Amino acid sequence: MDLRLYDTLSGEKRVFAPIDADNVRMYVCGPTVYDFAHIGNARPVIVFDLLFRMLRYIYGPDQVTYVRNITDVDDKINDRATRDFPGLPLNEAIRKVTEKTLVQFHADVDALGALRPTFEPRATDFVLPRADGKTDMVTLIKELIARGHAYEAGGEVLFDTQSMPDYGRLSGRKLDEQQAGARIAVDAHKKHPTDFVLWKQSSADEPGWESPWGRGRPGWHIECSAMSAAYLGDVFDIHGGGLDLIFPHHENEIAQSRCAHGTQAMANYWMHNGFLQVEGEKMSKSTGNFVTIRELLNDWPGEVVRLNMLKTHYRSPMDWTLKGMEESAKTLDDWYWVAADDRGGHPSTKVMEALSDDLNTPQTIAALHGLRNLAAAGDDKARGKFAASLRMLGFLNESAADWSARKQQSSGIDAARIDALIADRTAARARKDFKESDRIRDELAAMGVTIKDSKDGTTWEIAR
Ligand code: AMP
Ligand code: ZN
Repeated sequence: MDLRLYDTLSGEKRVFAPIDADNVRMYVCGPTVYDFAHIGNARPVIVFDLLFRMLRYIYGPDQVTYVRNITDVDDKINDRATRDFPGLPLNEAIRKVTEKTLVQFHADVDALGALRPTFEPRATDFVLPRADGKTDMVTLIKELIARGHAYEAGGEVLFDTQSMPDYGRLSGRKLDEQQAGARIAVDAHKKHPTDFVLWKQSSADEPGWESPWGRGRPGWHIECSAMSAAYLGDVFDIHGGGLDLIFPHHENEIAQSRCAHGTQAMANYWMHNGFLQVEGEKMSKSTGNFVTIRELLNDWPGEVVRLNMLKTHYRSPMDWTLKGMEESAKTLDDWYWVAADDRGGHPSTKVMEALSDDLNTPQTIAALHGLRNLAAAGDDKARGKFAASLRMLGFLNESAADWSARKQQSSGIDAARIDALIADRTAARARKDFKESDRIRDELAAMGVTIKDSKDGTTWEIAR
């Protein structure tokens, strides 16, 4: 079964062929750590976690290297640090902001069932040449200057976009069109309006590093060129992120990496997730239409958030709604009930085929519903495949008993759920499926519910 992935650069779905099947390499742009991550930020985390799991399944868990960076140098971080810790020296305040935010981020994405990447480098550790010789930003910038792709002007080091004949290929922007239509106030020191900053000077109250160009800090794009090369080499397999990063961020990463290393490609597959909005509106802090992962996790198990995200194909725009979450919660309750205590089986072929088609998760979920129905009708083989498929997708991290106990704790006793289980049990008994009816009785017992059958029907009570 071939894995096919949509590549933004070539504009087509292509069969995935890794450079080295013993070390499949993926880089995804990570968070800027100054505030709680929102549900839009959760989309690339979940989507590329799914791809990571797929690659590990196909090539082996030790054969895949996944790097997701942490951007801990950024003007938004500086602003937050001076606002929240006015008494502290800037560097200390920055460290407090980034460390606190990173702890929050990890707790959030762990709860979403996302595996930790193999490496999570922090940008500030890759500004200056390193003792271990891994690629760093200053060395890359020096290389770009030496090869005639960058120049110093106005106290900055800028990338010379006109020095790269096919600059703009990823986003489909041509240099001459941009010059003609440029509305951006052109900084006088730039040779071309699309030239971008590799290094800029820092004032005394900004974080800075001593460099050949004075005390300063890196531009945004160079960090990913440095950290991807440090862990994955000059050319690697997959580079991912949200759609908004295609231009300028990924375009400029490609320019830097290819020109510094003299290569024809930075990564062989460029993958981008579509944007997410909330209840039909763009997320925006100013209008208050803004949902953090943390807020959602107060109300819902992380796996419900994960399932809800995967109901939409990763490249499509997505509308995040309360109604969708309620449906996802119901689906997952049902799936836990049917499958969570089954430990056997391999993922189903239908599920793997759907995933192999550019992570077609809507089709994957349709296949799961089919398996669920077979399993609920007593097909043990289907139940095994169903459970193994769900685990492969990052679900069923708890036992059925823990899942329903947690649910009860957070919402009190779910009487409707208990009534539904009892109705299912009655139906199972009517068709003489006693295995199933016993299983339901056990599940109810695990929820702390005891049932009593009489000729008038079944009653239940909470066991004390
Ligand atoms: P940021 O911290 O804003 O750089 O974003 C981190 C990641 O989240 C990037 O891959 C963005 O493309 C992605 N992202 C941000 N907002 C959204 C959104 N509303 N929908 C989908 N992805 C988003
Ligand atoms: Zn990046």
